[in-house]
Amino acid sequence: MPIFPEKIKVAYEYVTTEIFIPSPFRCGICYKLGHTKKRCDSQKNKPTCGFCGEAAHPSEQQCLRAKCVNCQGDHPSFSKSCPRFLEEKEINAIRVTMRILYSLAREELARRKKIPQRPIVNYASSSLHSNVRPPLSYAKVVQSTEMAADLNLSSQ
Ligand SMILES: [Zn+2]
Ligand SMILES: [Zn+2]
Ligand SMILES: [Zn+2]
Repeated sequence: MPIFPEKIKVAYEYVTTEIFIPSPFRCGICYKLGHTKKRCDSQKNKPTCGFCGEAAHPSEQQCLRAKCVNCQGDHPSFSKSCPRFLEEKEINAIRVTMRILYSLAREELARRKKIPQRPIVNYASSSLHSNVRPPLSYAKVVQSTEMAADLNLSSQ
């Protein structure tokens, strides 16, 4: 068997640039962020419709309007553009890239938001610092971990 050292190098670079940023937990019962179906406290949380935020109802029954249980916004609770969900995602990104605890990452995000001239972790809109090459495509990583999270949710 001939040896191809180039292939080894490619594989090595691929592995070292990969950072796993977990998608925020979102409960499949009450649709609140921060826990999963398995950890849902039935004393505190009720089964909820992920679309209208009302008590869970049969799927045949139509939802009157979309309402998010996490931010009270007019979108479904499972929306990936929910500001609360995006905030959790940013906390996760800070937590993983800085290797700090969740509570500290939360404080860090709050601190960054208070200082407008310091951009919040957002490699997707990195045209401002075009001379700085981000270590990885943030959007790409988030997308792939979201897909993984979706698979987790459906298998629970
Ligand atoms: Zn729950
Ligand atoms: Zn509903
Ligand atoms: Zn929301």
